[in-house]
Amino acid sequence: MHELSLMESMLEIALESARDRGAQKIHQIDLRVGALSGVVPEALEFAFDACTQNTIAAGANLKIELISALCHCENCDREFSPPDIIYDCPNCGKISSKLLQGRELQLTSIEVS
Ligand SMILES: [Zn+2]
Repeated sequence: MHELSLMESMLEIALESARDRGAQKIHQIDLRVGALSGVVPEALEFAFDACTQNTIAAGANLKIELISALCHCENCDREFSPPDIIYDCPNCGKISSKLLQGRELQLTSIEVS
């Protein structure tokens, strides 16, 4: 389950940021997860509970913002939402390799006190 190692590294960033702010507790962690990131949100939540045990983020709320995939077709100069990792334009059928969004996996903010 690669969500576990991904969550460990994101939690590491969150904990470091909380330390920098002199925080005693992390209340909420916000993540952006792209539809094509290959990450399962439920698995992330599970990993979050496991990783935060015995840290100042224990019991914190995990907020996941899902980002839908968006592709650009250079042939038609239009954007479309690919259903999967193969991005063929619904207008001309040409395969586009220009993914504008949908692969995100990032920590956007944390709430601490
Ligand atoms: Zn096209």
